[in-house]
Amino acid sequence: MSDNLFSAIDAKRDDIIALAQDLIRIPTLNPPGENYRLICEYLEKRLSGKGFEVELIRAHGTPGDSEKYPRWNVVARKEGAHKGECVHFNSHIDVVEVGKGWTTDPFGGELKDGKIYGRGACDMKGGLAASIVAAEAFLEIHPDFAGAIEISGTGDEESGGYGGVAYLAEKGFFSPARVQHVIIPEPLHKDRICLGHRGVWWAELETHGHIAHGSMPFLGDCAVRHMGAVMNEMEESLFPALAQKTTEMPVVPEGARQSTMNINSIHGGEPQQDPDFTGLPAPCVPDSCKMVIDRRFLIEENIDDVQQEVKDVLEKVASEREDFKYDLREMHRVLPSMTEKSAPVVETVSKAIEEIMGKVPEYVVSPGTYDQKHIDRIGKLKNCIAYGPGILELAHQPDEYIGVDDMLDSAKVMAQSLTKLLCPK
Ligand SMILES: [Zn+2]
Repeated sequence: MSDNLFSAIDAKRDDIIALAQDLIRIPTLNPPGENYRLICEYLEKRLSGKGFEVELIRAHGTPGDSEKYPRWNVVARKEGAHKGECVHFNSHIDVVEVGKGWTTDPFGGELKDGKIYGRGACDMKGGLAASIVAAEAFLEIHPDFAGAIEISGTGDEESGGYGGVAYLAEKGFFSPARVQHVIIPEPLHKDRICLGHRGVWWAELETHGHIAHGSMPFLGDCAVRHMGAVMNEMEESLFPALAQKTTEMPVVPEGARQSTMNINSIHGGEPQQDPDFTGLPAPCVPDSCKMVIDRRFLIEENIDDVQQEVKDVLEKVASEREDFKYDLREMHRVLPSMTEKSAPVVETVSKAIEEIMGKVPEYVVSPGTYDQKHIDRIGKLKNCIAYGPGILELAHQPDEYIGVDDMLDSAKVMAQSLTKLLCPK
């Protein structure tokens, strides 16, 4: 039976190429969130033609949703002949900005030497195409399967997923009563299983001063100098402490296998003028300086401790500097997520990779987050992984591509996983 399944997928080589090209040729740039409706309608047509029940769902009122840029999502479901579990493939339909440095048309879907080029080819329209072809081949070979298959195309993953998976999860689309296994075909390599991601804490720090004439700074209080003291303290105590934290999470790349913090931006004093402004600045002592930090944390860390470490830095500086006043504001938080290796979807996909690729899969964790966060926290569904074709490092780069063989191989892993989960012997 497996051989029939694999030859059915090999026979769909031209189909998977055309499908990936079609998806790439719909420019779904986010921001602002272009053509979501168009790509959802394309997927609706394709999947309803294969017997799926298809719903188009607009995430009304979510960030960015407007009449000009409505947040459309598509969910397709195919019921089996018997009762059983549901396997859901979730792909984001949005792509990031094109950026500079392309030698091919970013929305051309050009096929060259077994690779299809375009923005979103790898992240993650290639993965979406692979899951569709996997499901269609499975349905041809096992029309009498038990359970259900779902395929969704969701928006806004690149901007947090609030108009996509988070919205659907709130509406019950990922409730464990409806869905039992979720595979997100993000480009993690066809022989790796991604179990989850680190946590995120974004915050804005502000130091306060007192404005005065720049020729008499002693009459003011410089907020930028206060921030300088904060940065010194971070260099001396916080950054070395973060580098010491180790984790059981198999994060890739290896540099991210610890706690990290990025200083995202810093600004103090007079606002920046337009580039065409030709005047000089006015002499003022800055009364405010703001810094945005992006702290990534581990499953072993608690978010309260993560916050406390930053507060400790600020309090230490406060104890050493006269008139040091600050504010600390949280901007965004995502808790870490990591599915157990013993979870059914992990064990199933792992066996399928071994059978098809002839090697034990590597288990990895993503340094950043992806839509698993919403499936875990809002949907309360723990049995979720990312698995899909493509080279992670190509994501968001110029000349992004997806290999045709990679798509076919991972489609075989996905289809074989469906067989294991939905065809009881
Ligand atoms: Zn992605």
